[in-house]
Order: sequence, then structure tokens, then C-alpha cells
Amino acid sequence: MSTKRVLITGGAGFLGSHLCDRYLKEGYKVICMDNLLTGSAENIAHLMGNEDFEFVKHDVTNFIHVKGDLDLILHFASPASPVDYLEMPIQTLKVGSLGTHKALGLAKEKDARFLLASTSEVYGDPLTHPQKEDYWGNVNPIGHRGVYDEAKRFAEAMAMAYHRYHGTETRIVRIFNTYGSRMRLHDGRALPTFMRQALRGNPLTVYGDGSQTRSFMYVDDLVEGVWRLSKSDYVEPVNIGNPEEITILEFAKEIIELTGSDSEIIFEELPKDDPQIRQPDISKAKEVLDWEPTYDRREGLSVALEYFKQKVLNS
Ligand code: NAD
Ligand code: UDP
Repeated sequence: MSTKRVLITGGAGFLGSHLCDRYLKEGYKVICMDNLLTGSAENIAHLMGNEDFEFVKHDVTNFIHVKGDLDLILHFASPASPVDYLEMPIQTLKVGSLGTHKALGLAKEKDARFLLASTSEVYGDPLTHPQKEDYWGNVNPIGHRGVYDEAKRFAEAMAMAYHRYHGTETRIVRIFNTYGSRMRLHDGRALPTFMRQALRGNPLTVYGDGSQTRSFMYVDDLVEGVWRLSKSDYVEPVNIGNPEEITILEFAKEIIELTGSDSEIIFEELPKDDPQIRQPDISKAKEVLDWEPTYDRREGLSVALEYFKQKVLNS
């Protein structure tokens, strides 16, 4: 059997670069396609020179040309942190809509399987708890976050349309807050922000009163979930996340304790439409992928801490 080839869009980003590593390890030839909008060549520098790895700098909102056969497309290109997508609303809408269309067109052309990186944000500010895949969400389409949420909702609709109309093999993963190495210190997300602030002895900026909740998953667990979903027959969306839920205020305190910092906590204005609660129901992933997270938050954060220490030291 010939070696399988995977195209990973957004492959120079945080999650994409970890997926490049995993699929190479599994024996795939990997094409990493990225326009480096929020990603970095540094994330894939260790793969340059590997004969099974190829980097193509390309904006996937334009026609995507790939020579030769493709077995799988992992479509991960998109600004992903709230700060990024609020700064780049049009690029975010374009990559979720036009980019997804181009990537699906390529999947159809190559008869390749297509896996979409969707998000817990499709549930918006959810009115059910925990969130199950059959919840349709509570999104403000014209709100600031709508550019991301609606782009991903459109992307899911487009994937299902290609599946139903063209018979394309599609998979949809709804990813919940993930953390680990290769996150940018300044991407604006709570975890790298708190790590940076705590390690520098600066105040941690908690938005609102910090009573909003999130559920954080270590990156290796996400990669395993994506790997299993890409191998499975399951077409409908699957939540991949760690159900361990925590308020943002408690989380800030946990990071202060973990880093041994004497930083204080200050409160700043809550961004508009910031979801109040978020916790994945992962029964579907357990049932169809036999997947559940293996890192509890303490364990994952301790591993991630080593990365953030280095990053802060070198910044
Ligand atoms: P990231 O910003 O590190 O990676 C995104 C990558 O996409 C970057 O390398 C960026 O340069 C690239 N990109 C953006 N627009 C592009 C375009 N038009 N053409 C080519 N490349 C483009 O973010 P991430 O956290 O690694 O997220 C990756 C994917 O996972 C995103 O689709 C995001 O929506 C999804 N996701 C992530 C999380 C999370 O917690 N990290 C949660 C839910 C969903
Ligand atoms: N947040 C915070 N301080 C920060 C950055 C974020 O209190 O410096 C809050 C944010 O308002 C949200 C939560 O932390 O309620 C998680 O934010 P993040 O940007 O990590 O991801 P989100 O889940 O909102 O996409």
C-alpha cells in the first residue's frame, strides 16, 4: 500500500503543528499549508528537512492546488483566539466560508476525506449545560464574536452539504478550549495571558467578575481525538474537550499557585457576548471514538508550564 498523504491547513499554527507531528509519526506524508497569519514558521522549524514533510505558504481562501493524490484534509486554518478574530473579522469570515469551500472542493477533486476543525463557539452563549452535539446554539450573528461563530457554523453546513450532495467523506470536530506548547504568549487567550502575567509577577487580568466558566483540555488529548475521528465512520459533529469545568477566577488563582507567583488579580471589563458557561458533554466521543481525555487539568498545566517558562525567558 502506498504511503498516505494528508494536507493540514493552518498547519503552522498551535494545533496544526501538533497534528503535523502526529500524522508524520503515524507514517503519513504531510503537506502543511498556511499563510502564517497567526501561525509561525517556528512551530514547524523542526520538521523542515524531513522528506515526508512539505510546507506550502498559501492563503486557502484562494484556489488550492495540490499535485498528486491526497487521502485526507484536516482543515484547521482560521484565526482562533478572540483577540485574533476580533482584530481580523473579515479574514476570519473568509477562511471559514471561502477557505472551507476551497478545501472541500479539493477533497471532492481528490476523493479525499475531509475533517473540519469546528468549535464549541458554535454553541455561542449556551442555554444548556453541559453542551451536547444536538444543541443548536445561542449565537448573536451580528455580535463581535459572530464573525468566528457564524463562519464555523457556515463551515459545518458546507461540510454537511458536500457530504449529502457530493458524497464527500466529511468529519466535524467541535473543539473546546485547548492549551499546550506553541501557543503564543500574546494571543490574548486566558491561559497564555495568565501564565505570562504570573511568570512575570504582573497582575492577572480577569474579565468581568470571573464567574464565567471554561473547561480546558491538554493538546495531546485533542490530537488523539482528531486522529481517532479521522479514522472513524462517524459523520456528524463530535465534541472533543475536557469536561473538568472551572470559573475563570478560580483558574487565575490556580495558575498563580502553580507558578508560585505573588501576582495579584485585577478585574477588567467583560468582553461583549463572552459565553457565561462552557462544558463539553463527551458521551458521543466516548461512544463512537472510545475517546476521553487522559490529562487532568493539574497534570496538563504542569507540563505546559515548562513551555511557558522557556517562552517567557526568551521573550
Ligand atoms: P492558530 O491561530 O495557532 O492556528 C491557525 C492557523 O491558521 C495559523 O497558523 C494561521 O496562520 C492559519 N491561517 C489562518 N487563516 C489562513 C488562511 N486564510 N490560509 C492559510 N492559513 C491560514 O490557532 P489554533 O488554536 O491552532 O486553532 C486551529 C484551528 O482549531 C482553528 O480552526 C480554530 O478555529 C480551531 N479551534 C481551536 C481551539 C483552541 O482551543 N485552540 C478551540 C476550538 C477550535
Ligand atoms: N479572559 C480573562 N482574562 C484574560 C483573557 C481572557 O478573564 O486576560 C476570560 C475571557 O473573557 C473568557 C475566558 O477568560 O471568559 C476564556 O477566554 P479565552 O480567550 O481563553 O477563550 P474563549 O473561551 O472565550 O474563546
